[in-house]
Amino acid sequence: MEECIFCKIVKGEIPSEKVYEDDMVLSFKDIEPAAPVHVLIIPKKHIESINDLTEEDSNIIAHIYLVAKQIAEKLDLVETGYRIVTNCGEEAGQTVPHIHFHLLGGRPFKWPPG
Ligand code: AMP
Ligand code: ZN
Repeated sequence: MEECIFCKIVKGEIPSEKVYEDDMVLSFKDIEPAAPVHVLIIPKKHIESINDLTEEDSNIIAHIYLVAKQIAEKLDLVETGYRIVTNCGEEAGQTVPHIHFHLLGGRPFKWPPG
């Protein structure tokens, strides 16, 4: 996807503060943090949203959760807790059409969300 900002981050055409990278996923700090810890975890493959996932993406999504666990350990969030959020579509607040997982921590969160 030529225009996609997260694809551009994957290709290094837009700078990011990387937290983790392997051949399948990239994690970087959110540019507008909503919590003391706010990183995004994305697949390198362009997938627009949860609505576009297929069976063949199962390994990517499973891997993302294992990466999230590693990042939570590295950033010392395991004891206090953390939240992982994926917004899907307009009303949920998805603004970037490349599937991403927000990993948020470092403060208490309310439930249900606003
Ligand atoms: P969402 O609203 O769920 O689609 O989340 C998109 C997130 O991407 C927002 O929290 C933005 O702050 C973040 N974001 C947008 N552009 C960048 C960027 N260039 N680098 C890091 N985070 C970004
Ligand atoms: Zn993309």
